Amino acid sequence: MQQSLTLANGETISYLLERRTRRTVGLKITENGLVVHAPKRIFEFQLNQILQEKSGWILSKLQAREANQIEKIQWVDGEHLLFLDNDIQLNIMQSSSNKALVFDQNTLFMHALQPNNHAAVSRKVIQWYKKQAELDFGRRLEILAAKLGVPTPPLTLSNAQSRWGSCNNRGEVRLSWRLLQAPPHIINYVICHELAHLKQMNHSAKFYAVLESLFPNYKAVEKELKALSPTLHRI
Ligand SMILES: [Zn+2]
Repeated sequence: MQQSLTLANGETISYLLERRTRRTVGLKITENGLVVHAPKRIFEFQLNQILQEKSGWILSKLQAREANQIEKIQWVDGEHLLFLDNDIQLNIMQSSSNKALVFDQNTLFMHALQPNNHAAVSRKVIQWYKKQAELDFGRRLEILAAKLGVPTPPLTLSNAQSRWGSCNNRGEVRLSWRLLQAPPHIINYVICHELAHLKQMNHSAKFYAVLESLFPNYKAVEKELKALSPTLHRI
């Protein structure tokens, strides 16, 4: 029986209630959400009280489940991808020749010799992302470096899973091509962070003052990027 529980903070949790011959209440998180095994004779108010008490545990487990549920990209025709926060669709056509990808009206058209070869499809799409990232990030880097009053630093794309950007002591900026999936203001924030390192090679208060002058709202956007991270790693 599908039930719902309203927590003190107003949040509602729906769950599947199964009455069992047992003495205690059992909680389980399955792929469909929360399942509650309750004794046949328990009163509803008692059950509600137990669930309220366990709500911290329930919420954290449900959140973890959600984070794990973000599916990896399936490299098939019709798959949805993110490009500068836009939902774009992959259109794969069987072809006798290998042509360059064409991006038009939020669709990425691919002619593939083997449309079902997922590894080959992913390679081509990622190659396309990298090329677009180089152009897009390059332009932003130029504009934002001018804003900071420094020469445009050399840009390298990275495939790093754990960091979005870095800046070495030779003043070279590396950015993950995966960022190209993110909204433009998030890309700008990461670039500003790395540019600020051209003035301060550390994370001191002075560094954050430079960053703030270049990108005033950086704290909020840093949080946004953290929350978005699992989605950006679908690729
Ligand atoms: Zn840094």
